[in-house]
Parts: sequence; C-alpha cells; structure tokens
Amino acid sequence: MTARLIDGAALAAQARLGVQERVTQLARVGRAVQLTAILVGSTPAAEVYAENQSRTSHAVGIDYHLIKLPATATMDDVRAAIENLNDDPAVTGIMLHLPLPKQLDATVLQHAINPVKDVEGVSPANIGYVVYGHTLIAPCTALAVIELIKSTGVNLCGLEAVVVGASEIAGKPISLLLTEQKATVTLCHIETKHLIEHTRRAEVLVVAVGKAGLIGADHVKEGAIVIDVGINRITLPDGTKKTVGDVQFEAVSEKAAYITPVPGGVGPMTVAMLLKNTLRSAELLLQQNDTNTPT
Ligand code: NAD
Repeated sequence: MTARLIDGAALAAQARLGVQERVTQLARVGRAVQLTAILVGSTPAAEVYAENQSRTSHAVGIDYHLIKLPATATMDDVRAAIENLNDDPAVTGIMLHLPLPKQLDATVLQHAINPVKDVEGVSPANIGYVVYGHTLIAPCTALAVIELIKSTGVNLCGLEAVVVGASEIAGKPISLLLTEQKATVTLCHIETKHLIEHTRRAEVLVVAVGKAGLIGADHVKEGAIVIDVGINRITLPDGTKKTVGDVQFEAVSEKAAYITPVPGGVGPMTVAMLLKNTLRSAELLLQQNDTNTPT
C-alpha cells in the first residue's frame, strides 16, 4: 500500500480562513480578539517563534501582544503579569512561552491563567474538563492530531489507537482526546516493554517522542493511519541539516493508508488550532459577558 498524504499545511490554511472570517465579523461589531503572550527570558529560537506567532495572528486579524519579562523574573513577577491579563477585558487570550527559566514552575503558572483565556488548553482546569467530557479549550497539539485524523473521513469510534509518547504537552492529551472520540487507546512511553507489539496492532498510530526514525515499517500495521508529532533536527552525512519526524517516512508510507509529513503535518495544524482556540476564548468571554449583562 502507498499511503495518502495528510496535508497539514493545506488543512491549516483552511482552518485559518475560518478563523479569519469569524474574527473579522467580531471586529466589525467592536469585539476585537486579542492574544497576549508572555516570554520570560529570551533565546533567539524563542524570539523567532514569537515573531512567527505575531505574524500568523495578525494575518487572521487577531491583535497579538508580547510581554517580555527578564530571565531573572520570580514566580510572583510572572503571576502578577498573568493576573493583570486575567483582569484586563481587552485581553481575550493568554499564553505562556515554554520553556521557562528553572526558578519558575510552569504548571503552577499555567494554573494561574483564567481557564477561559487559556488558548493553549494547558491549565489543569482545562485538562480536567477534557477528562470529564465537558471540553472548554483543548490542548492545541492534541486538537491538531484529531483534526488531521478526521480529515481522512475515517471514524475513530471503536478503532484501536496507539499513542507513543506520554508527555503532558503531547501524548497524554492526545490519548484523552482519542478516548473522547471513543477509540480504544493504548498509551506507550519509555518504560513500555515490547513497543512494537503495541504499535503493530494500531489502526491509528500517533507518535510523539522526539527520536528521529524511532518508528519503522515493522512497527506499523498495514493500512494504518500514522500521525507523526515528532520534530527532530538531524545532520545528514553531507553536513546539511534537515527536520524529520519520529517516523521513517518513506518506509512507513509503503505500509500505511494515511501519513502526515514532517514538516507540513502536525506542526502547521497546531498553530492553526492555537488561533482557533484564541477565537474560541473570545467567543466564550462574549457569552459570559452577555449572560452577566442585565437586560
Ligand atoms: P517529551 O520529551 O516531554 O516526552 C517524550 C515522551 O516520549 C515521554 O513520555 C517518554 O516516556 C516517551 N519516550 C521516549 N523514548 C521513548 C521510546 N524509545 N519509546 C517509547 N516512548 C518513548 O517530549 P514532548 O514535549 O512530548 O515532544 C515529543 C516530540 O513532539 C518532540 O519531537 C517535539 O518537538 C514534538 N512536538 C511537536 C509539536 C507540534 O505541534 N508539532 C508539539 C509538541 C511536541
């Protein structure tokens, strides 16, 4: 079998268009969508990431602000910045760039973000809502994975899904959203014995580890849907650098029914889901305001 490509870049462009239309409608009635990101300390990579985010947000009409705090910022400093944004009615979405300097606890700070403004869906409250089946804002990468699978037209209900990688940012939320779709989910991690015995059963295989080429053709069931979340920079024998996933793309393409490329798969879709979540936050706040406004 030769796999069909799931074109994350094209699907992301489509999703962005939908966001842009609704953001424009809201702006016309004076309800601007505004995302503020907090960057603590600065590395060239973080600056580039924030710059890209600013560009993609503005492209769909979302007003993007970046607050830069020094690398020496304390928990109190960052918490105060978050609380100001929580209280500011002009700010409809908040995100905290990771990684943080080591004196800061990311989980505690993410917990401080108003769950309705938490556009990354990382606050413990939002993760909890997913567990209880009342999703408010879902984590972006997990949402991207679900959207990419749905684009194949295959119904996840009852399918055997295996997720490799069990981090808080990727694997665990992905397994939660797959469970919500009623797939039968196995979550594998570094301590999983005989990984291949699990992955070979997967009708849907999602890999989020960060190890180039971890999954080869032998790991994959004929006709599976393979979603590669991994992003790895490797150096080729001629010294050039290349971005690859965790899946051996060429070999696995011969066996899978559908596969995502890296780059151009989960990555762009995750960015599109951040914009979609930013719009959702703004809409949820509007609903709250309308409910609280006396008639
Ligand atoms: P992480 O290091 O926090 O977690 C890695 C997970 O993989 C852990 O649960 C670990 O137990 C598991 N693991 C490690 N080696 C394994 C092995 N040999 N077999 C099975 N499991 C193993 O990484 P992360 O933050 O979850 O990121 C994973 C990858 O996904 C990275 O390449 C990252 O760049 C990428 N990523 C991409 C996006 C995106 O939007 N495209 C978002 C988040 C992460």
